[in-house]
Amino acid sequence: MEASEPFRSDTKRILIIEDNELNMKLLKDVLEAHGYGIIASRYGAKALELARRHRPHLILMDIQLPDISGLEAARQLKESQETQSIPIIAITAFAMAGDERKTLASGCDAYIAKPIRLREFLDAVETFIGAAK
Ligand code: MN
Repeated sequence: MEASEPFRSDTKRILIIEDNELNMKLLKDVLEAHGYGIIASRYGAKALELARRHRPHLILMDIQLPDISGLEAARQLKESQETQSIPIIAITAFAMAGDERKTLASGCDAYIAKPIRLREFLDAVETFIGAAK
């Protein structure tokens, strides 16, 4: 899925990198319902290009992806001057000791474990970029 609808310039944009279609739909639907603009891909290798092109205010990064890992994609984003200031929230099914440290070491700014609890998730999004409107 590659969604890149034109947004109003004042719409807060979120780039979602997630390969699980159900999770992607859940995240996209709930964020769109709250007024955010969504850019989406299932590939970690697309994250840097999409972030440069669309200048999202926030990136939601799944860790297990079909190509490069979300940790590697986060490293690329944080190494690029153009994209390093964009906050990244890692989303992972692994809730094992050490995972939070690994995601933060890769440059991610926060960590949310699946299964996603929507209220907590939206609170985390608003902490980084505020409400959509
Ligand atoms: Mn995944």
